[in-house]
Amino acid sequence: MAVSISIQNLSKSFGATRALDRVSLEIAPGELFFLLGPSGCGKTTLLRHIAGFYRPDEGRILIGGDDVTDTPPHRRDTGMVFQSYALWPHMTLAQNVAFGLEMRRVPAAELKRRVHEALDTVKMAARADSKPNQLSGGQQQRIALARALVVQPRCLLLDEPLSNLDAKLRLEMRIEIRRICKQAGLTAVYVTHDQKEALSIADRLAIMRDGVLEQIGTPLEVYRQPRNAFVASFIGETNFLPPGFFGAAYDPGQATKLSVRPEAVHLGTPPAGPEFLRLDGEIHGTVYLGETAQHQMDAAGADGARTTLTVFELNPEILARDEARPATAWIHARDVVALPQ
Ligand code: ATP
Repeated sequence: MAVSISIQNLSKSFGATRALDRVSLEIAPGELFFLLGPSGCGKTTLLRHIAGFYRPDEGRILIGGDDVTDTPPHRRDTGMVFQSYALWPHMTLAQNVAFGLEMRRVPAAELKRRVHEALDTVKMAARADSKPNQLSGGQQQRIALARALVVQPRCLLLDEPLSNLDAKLRLEMRIEIRRICKQAGLTAVYVTHDQKEALSIADRLAIMRDGVLEQIGTPLEVYRQPRNAFVASFIGETNFLPPGFFGAAYDPGQATKLSVRPEAVHLGTPPAGPEFLRLDGEIHGTVYLGETAQHQMDAAGADGARTTLTVFELNPEILARDEARPATAWIHARDVVALPQ
């Protein structure tokens, strides 16, 4: 049975550092939830509070409705997966996975069945008798996952589990992790500073800064509707424009800044209609990457002030490397985000 995780008004200081500042968060049963943010923002500290390695200065943590704030880690029924796999080199994979069940004195027949199931879930059953040093990094991380899953935790906590893997394996494993969590119906909290990892597999994510949750939402919400300039620039790339940039064509409301993603700026003349905002200027500094190109575009706003925007072009046909070229571009008004700060 999947459980909810409720973080209520959690604060934690280390000396003068306020690592968590009144953090509140509701994670739904079966949800794959990501904590994302720059180094030192408090992600790991929050995860360790859920695991029970830290006691908060203030606030409470509920797992499945039970207040576990004062419950020691081994009684919280959570599984943890870390960046380092920490497998025992002298044990076979099956023995590594079985260890947690032996500690719990699970009867032999049941132990064997559950170890096989866990290895099967991570697609490593055929290698049960191998030793860890015969495995690739990705395979070792699968075993670490199986070891966390075999004890049937109420929730899974993952701290940068893919950081030691090369780029290709990371892509493969992140899809695997989502499949495994969903198959096991587990509530999972996943810490990373890799935004692509979070956007690609999270049900929802929280962006943290200096111990505070800046925004919580689905990947689409956080990417397309960032609440402030920090979130807009932390997730993906963005162009900041002055609020009056488009003049009468776009009403910025109370915004102090507009945010426009580089992929939302389209080269060419705009279609007809008031929702298409026109830019005239010149492009230069093209970085051509084959399937995409990144251009810099100098354009004048309604007040005459010039701004340089980054523009992504898919299936690019224009190269403006050594000299600037005149260009027209357009932005759909719904792709402009008005930011309060
Ligand atoms: P990273 O991505 O670099 O791992 P993080 O977001 O996980 O960063 P935390 O490890 O949670 O950040 O640290 C949050 C803040 O608390 C940092 O300023 C850190 O230096 C401080 N901190 C964390 N743990 C301790 C500790 N045990 N003692 C003292 N300060 C700590």
